[in-house]
Amino acid sequence: MGKKDDNNSTLSEGAPRTCRAALAHEGKDLGLALDCLGCGGPGPFADPQCLRSALEAMASESGADSLTASGHVETQLRPGGMEVLERIVQLGRDLDHLAQREPPKGIRGCDQCQLRPRLLFTGLRGSLFQDAGAFSDTLKVALGKLRDGARGCDGCLSETAEDLLFTSESYEELVRFVVRHGFQIIV
Ligand SMILES: [Zn+2]
Ligand SMILES: [Zn+2]
Repeated sequence: MGKKDDNNSTLSEGAPRTCRAALAHEGKDLGLALDCLGCGGPGPFADPQCLRSALEAMASESGADSLTASGHVETQLRPGGMEVLERIVQLGRDLDHLAQREPPKGIRGCDQCQLRPRLLFTGLRGSLFQDAGAFSDTLKVALGKLRDGARGCDGCLSETAEDLLFTSESYEELVRFVVRHGFQIIV
């Protein structure tokens, strides 16, 4: 919380912008509509804050087949693009899940440890939704903490290493998928 937006966008001072989102049936499809006229942002395909609103909406209400953002230009995601977002949301769920793991019991220094699951994976989850494109940098910082053994207790070092490796592999798989589909996302 309270992390400054370091893209130094002059418009994004203060509270993060959120876009109203609504699910509606269109025939047998379920469409997610994002109101980017109301939020004043340029929409989820041009703006990380609008994208975060879309991801949060998809995380809390799963099952949408399409995403339409109304704004200056109405844009709609192709199915491939929808799948990219779904994969990001799924990775977010995995990170939520990893954050729930109890830290090892009875290890001295774990209360000061930077590799505690809740601290580390909650931070990664936030960073993923905030700016999925910069997630690899955040992941590098986390992996750096792991290598720099002084940042964590012995228990978290071994258990968190495994979970971080899993996260890193999932993200690489996501990036490969985006590279295959990324250039034709918007209708
Ligand atoms: Zn928006
Ligand atoms: Zn620890």
